[in-house]
Amino acid sequence: MAEQTARTIGPVILLGPPGSGKGTQAKRIAAHYSIPQISTGDLLREHVSRGTALGREAQAVMARGELVPDELMYGIVADRLDQPDYACGYVLDGFPRTAGQAGWLDAFLERQFFEKSEKWTPVVIRLDVDYTQLLLRLTGRRSCPTCGRIYNVHFQPPRVNELCDLDDSKLIQREDDREEVIRPRLDAYEVQTKPVAEYYRARGRLVAVNADQAVDELAAQIFGIIDSHVAERAGRGMTKS
Ligand code: AMP
Repeated sequence: MAEQTARTIGPVILLGPPGSGKGTQAKRIAAHYSIPQISTGDLLREHVSRGTALGREAQAVMARGELVPDELMYGIVADRLDQPDYACGYVLDGFPRTAGQAGWLDAFLERQFFEKSEKWTPVVIRLDVDYTQLLLRLTGRRSCPTCGRIYNVHFQPPRVNELCDLDDSKLIQREDDREEVIRPRLDAYEVQTKPVAEYYRARGRLVAVNADQAVDELAAQIFGIIDSHVAERAGRGMTKS
């Protein structure tokens, strides 16, 4: 599929439980539309590995599979969204994760709207996957610490057991993909993140897709949803002027 040159896409929000493929699809979207990906999980893990004050605060919470408090998240997300690279849009993976974060993001976009006089309504896509499949995806997930490539020991194993196909590095498992942490993470999703889908559904913005399909097919479906959202917004802009 041909990648597109920069045009205004606006914010794309991927919702879905841990293991639903948000990271994989976010990377596809970012490459296809030439927009940056913001993964709050990756940003937090970066803080943890750099040993920043925020990282030290977040580390224990993440290790328990719970959510980092909203107030800590706002600072790191706002810092990113204010950068010039984000002027054509971005894909958010892992944010918002509470109804409070969703309200905060709307208020933030509204403020930006006054600055750039262009209304950015996010396109919100929820990836649905059944519970048994999620468990296999999470327990089987491994990644290469050198190149970041993601594998799954059940569905997409490396050619040689536990070694990266590209650079032979020993694959690692995320701390919070251990079985005892998976359940609290899925519980956090049920209790705190499901209301986010309700928040967007109530505003007529939620599109749910079956994410239990091949990565390329799902990506093609998601591009179709984003393209129609962008075309619709452009159409609305034209009728206004
Ligand atoms: P992820 O890589 O998206 O699964 O995120 C890993 C962990 O980072 C989560 O289990 C949370 O502890 C934390 N985290 C990521 N994004 C958020 C967020 N938007 N709000 C609160 N905690 C978050």
